[in-house]
Amino acid sequence: MLPVALRDDFPFLQQVHPNGRPWVYLDSAATTLKPQPVIEAMMKAMSLYSTNVHRSVYGLGDIATEKFEGARRKIARFIGADRHEIVFVRNTTEALNLVASGYPRKGVALVSWSEHHSNLLPWQRGPFRGIAPLANGSPDIQGVCNELNRGDVSIVAVSHIGNVTGHITDIRRLASEVHRAGAILVVDAAQSAGRMPIDVQELECDFLAFSGHKMYGPSGIGVLYGKTERLLELSPVLAGGGTVETVHMHHHDFRSLPWKLEAGTPAIEAVITLGAAVDYLQTLGMEEVAEHETELTRYAAQKIKVLNQHAKCVWHSGESSLGTLSFHIERESSHVMARTLSDRYGICVRSGHLCAQPLLEWWKAPPIIRLSFGIYNCTAEIDYCCDALCEIMSSLKAR
Ligand code: PMP
Repeated sequence: MLPVALRDDFPFLQQVHPNGRPWVYLDSAATTLKPQPVIEAMMKAMSLYSTNVHRSVYGLGDIATEKFEGARRKIARFIGADRHEIVFVRNTTEALNLVASGYPRKGVALVSWSEHHSNLLPWQRGPFRGIAPLANGSPDIQGVCNELNRGDVSIVAVSHIGNVTGHITDIRRLASEVHRAGAILVVDAAQSAGRMPIDVQELECDFLAFSGHKMYGPSGIGVLYGKTERLLELSPVLAGGGTVETVHMHHHDFRSLPWKLEAGTPAIEAVITLGAAVDYLQTLGMEEVAEHETELTRYAAQKIKVLNQHAKCVWHSGESSLGTLSFHIERESSHVMARTLSDRYGICVRSGHLCAQPLLEWWKAPPIIRLSFGIYNCTAEIDYCCDALCEIMSSLKAR
């Protein structure tokens, strides 16, 4: 597992709850905490590189452009892409919307009921079909194959790791089925980019979307990766300064990739800082990050079974989940449990429908509780959370 000392990199974790204990953060699937080198990179970018990029013809402007494009190169290497295949957007949601709105849809888009709203709503704007998930809430790959055989599918959109179940989708297998049917594969990597190594060449996906704030970087910056030939087919949804080579009163010529897809002044400081987050992750090693999260998730899955001694606990994650465990307690409010964990114990967890209402509807599940992990979590925190949940449940029983 990763060294416990890396917790010292996270100022958030130095804060103490009114109960006198440090806060325990188990909500990294919502957003991750930021380490000191990332915070410093943001401060440096705002203090020293705060000129505009790609236009300033002076030395300090050149430095900002070099830092900005340097971050693009780092992020490209991080996922095995070419630098012109990296398009900066605000977040995963925007990246998926750009593809749904700008990629020529020659047929139906297929989406599992288990997808996050951000990977469902953009597709609802055109012809689409929903695929029922497997009982464990993971996308049904065989179901997708059956739909592909109908011959009218042009896009399949799927999450790499489910934000409710933590299930890892076999993207490679899906990509070959999708391509055999002449369709393209769009991957929502919001939950995986900061948790496991990603190589887009190996995955063979056509588009892949992720957010900086879920990989120890800043919010307000995300990435749309697209294979060159796919990005060339993508119409710019936004047009304006930065996207064009020449402009005449009645027509214009777009710049090459990726700039034709990045209208207006980009999130310069956030891009440079996302580069620092990638450096931070690479220093730890993505294999090691994945191993750490696997260990924590396995440990928590075992440990938390003890809840069943107190009440009927309905699980929404399997033992092979990565980074995320979800459940609800029969007849108890998940929101009240989460609020009590926070106010009494200083533990941050997520409660609700987790932006996956169709999945919860399909399960007929009420709002749920999600524990999700990051590189700074340790087994002692899981023990503490588990003990806290047991205490809460005993006190509820005693009502
Ligand atoms: N997809 C998944 C699987 C997610 O977990 C999230 C965030 N919870 C998103 C998409 C949307 O990410 P963002 O809000 O950063 O656009």
